[in-house]
Amino acid sequence: MQVDLNTVDWKTLPFGYYDTDYNVRCYYRNGEWGKIEVSSSKDISIHMAATCLHYGQEGFEGLKAYTGKDGKVRIFRVDENAKRMQNTANRILMAVPPVELFREMVHTVVKLNKRFVPPYGYGATLYIRPLLIGMSPEVGVKPADEYLLMMFVTPVGPYFKDGFKPVDMMISRNYDRAAPQGTGTVKVGGNYAASLQSLAEAKKLGYSSTIYLDAKEKKYIDECGPANFFGIKGKTYVTPKSESILPSITNKSLQQLAEYLGYTVERRQVPFEELAEFSETAECGTAAVITPIKKIVDPVAGKEFTYGDGKNPGPVCTELFTKYTAIQFGEAEDPFGWTEVVDL
Ligand SMILES: *Cc1c(COP(=O)(O)O)cnc(C)c1O
Repeated sequence: MQVDLNTVDWKTLPFGYYDTDYNVRCYYRNGEWGKIEVSSSKDISIHMAATCLHYGQEGFEGLKAYTGKDGKVRIFRVDENAKRMQNTANRILMAVPPVELFREMVHTVVKLNKRFVPPYGYGATLYIRPLLIGMSPEVGVKPADEYLLMMFVTPVGPYFKDGFKPVDMMISRNYDRAAPQGTGTVKVGGNYAASLQSLAEAKKLGYSSTIYLDAKEKKYIDECGPANFFGIKGKTYVTPKSESILPSITNKSLQQLAEYLGYTVERRQVPFEELAEFSETAECGTAAVITPIKKIVDPVAGKEFTYGDGKNPGPVCTELFTKYTAIQFGEAEDPFGWTEVVDL
């Protein structure tokens, strides 16, 4: 289904999938990347023995295009997504797409679907989903010879429909998402498969999502399912360092912004008892930028950590969120060179 562009309410549009006009594809065959192809089909023709279907040769990315106050459409740190997809490809032995190919495909797919880029003023954006999959048939365990890099887009409403609101989180005690030296540091679908059960159980109990501890010692905070974690202590931004965290571009950028605003940044192991010492805690990622947390429950230790007044985000999360999104929507100067304009 497509959104009806005449009647759509950009503010209430969910973070879901809607059809757009085109997607772009590029095949890797005989040791080289081909030309960028434009398609209006939602389907992929794929061999039933393709490695992505059997041995998890699949990696993906997520980024957004934003209509600015000046009407220009910007994308955010596309090089970082391209480099992260290269790391993902390297880790699971897929063909590595060049940064320039990745960037050109992002610009092309946004341009082709420009009528679906939400207008300025609603907090809505065009979500861009690149994916890389192993295409050729193998039954023995080994990497494919052929790959497909494709990108589609879908318009999404603001993550917070009625303002920036804190959520409740649960520590995942029964499931790990990723192991040290496993694939936690790369963006593969398999990590998400490993997280679905924990997420479903947390949702059933009324929590927004789960926080994972390090899989080896179960002592340190790792990250949330699809988002990194940070805590605020005085004028310090603290975020976990671990061998199984996916390096969030939002987290990296928030650390730069926090330093720019006069905060100290600490990237180190964060023992979960330290949850009691933060004035604010939050998740961060492209979808919501910052999701402040008002309560974290540890069902095994029978502990609860609460933040703020239980209703409103704390002052530091609010400041970071406001300044960060102002750069994305072209309302404030971009002192870091994070954004680039798409030539529509
Ligand atoms: C994508 C992702 C994030 C967020 O990364 P951003 O680049 O900030 O969107 C965090 N954790 C995991 C596990 C992810 O897959």
